Amino acid sequence: MEILDGKLVSQAVKDELKLKVDQLRQEGKKLPHLAAVLVGNNGASETYVAAKVKTCEEIGYTSTLVRFDADVAESVLLDKVRELNGNKDVNGILVQLPLPKHISEEKVINTIAAEKDVDGFHPSNIGKMVQGQPAYIPATPFGVLLLLEHYKIPTKGKHAVVIGRSNIVGRPMSILLSQNTPTGNCTVTICHSHTYNLKEVTLQADIIVAALGRPEFLTADMVKEGAVVIDVGITRVEDATKKKGYAIKGDVAFNEVAPKCSYITPVPGGVGAMTIAALMKNTYQATLLQG
Ligand code: NAP
Repeated sequence: MEILDGKLVSQAVKDELKLKVDQLRQEGKKLPHLAAVLVGNNGASETYVAAKVKTCEEIGYTSTLVRFDADVAESVLLDKVRELNGNKDVNGILVQLPLPKHISEEKVINTIAAEKDVDGFHPSNIGKMVQGQPAYIPATPFGVLLLLEHYKIPTKGKHAVVIGRSNIVGRPMSILLSQNTPTGNCTVTICHSHTYNLKEVTLQADIIVAALGRPEFLTADMVKEGAVVIDVGITRVEDATKKKGYAIKGDVAFNEVAPKCSYITPVPGGVGAMTIAALMKNTYQATLLQG
């Protein structure tokens, strides 16, 4: 069993981007600028946005953090997004999800200019991705592909089972794994909360991507010997023994599943780290495309 080390691979991606940014600086060109918008003060969202801003600093990108109170009017948020769309200094925009219930995430995502949508959630980017055209790929599935690529994990002809069909993780992941690309060509089954007898499906999988948000859901009896297991889940679970009062759990019961796997991602230190690296890759690409 080999651990798919997201920290290591994301560092390699960041190191490569840092060199590219140094090159841009030497050539007197504009450096990538990511604007992150955070609404409210959800603990997990605060952590994710802080990590994204910190990574920008590490690589040499400019970053702007725009904060709103949780009760901000939807129209105010949309106006800010439009302003960032029109700001030539900003190359990439991300609005941290989830948003408070009174704000339509769909409206916000649709308002972000597709060329600055470095999270890859805009319908235009999703549509292009589905057709195999150049597009910003949603950061988490993109991060998973970067991991598969780094470890040269064969995907051609494999049966991949994706658990979860959200627009930001499961669905794009299933499409990407099915495409005719070096990290695709899988036969893909996508599962969700209405899937009948999930265990029968996962036991047939060569590759499992667990993205359902149910801590330690995937247990050893659901996994075939030698499978590749990618754990996307991140859930805070109360834990009085931890300083912060919670532990981070993935969707895979790691201790029992790992011995059966050929490869497995840990949580933390797996897909989460890769998501940020992928976002940074998209932001660099956006900067080049915007000239
Ligand atoms: P989501 O929007 O809540 O979607 C969860 C999906 O899982 C839904 O499609 C749901 O099915 C399915 N599901 C729920 N319970 C199930 C069950 N018992 N059996 C089969 N399918 C089930 O979540 P998400 O945004 O995709 O996120 C999933 C997890 O990934 C969360 O833990 C999230 O925190 C984490 N995440 C991690 C990263 C990262 O960087 N590592 C990034 C994004 C998200 P229905 O469609 O039928 O409801």
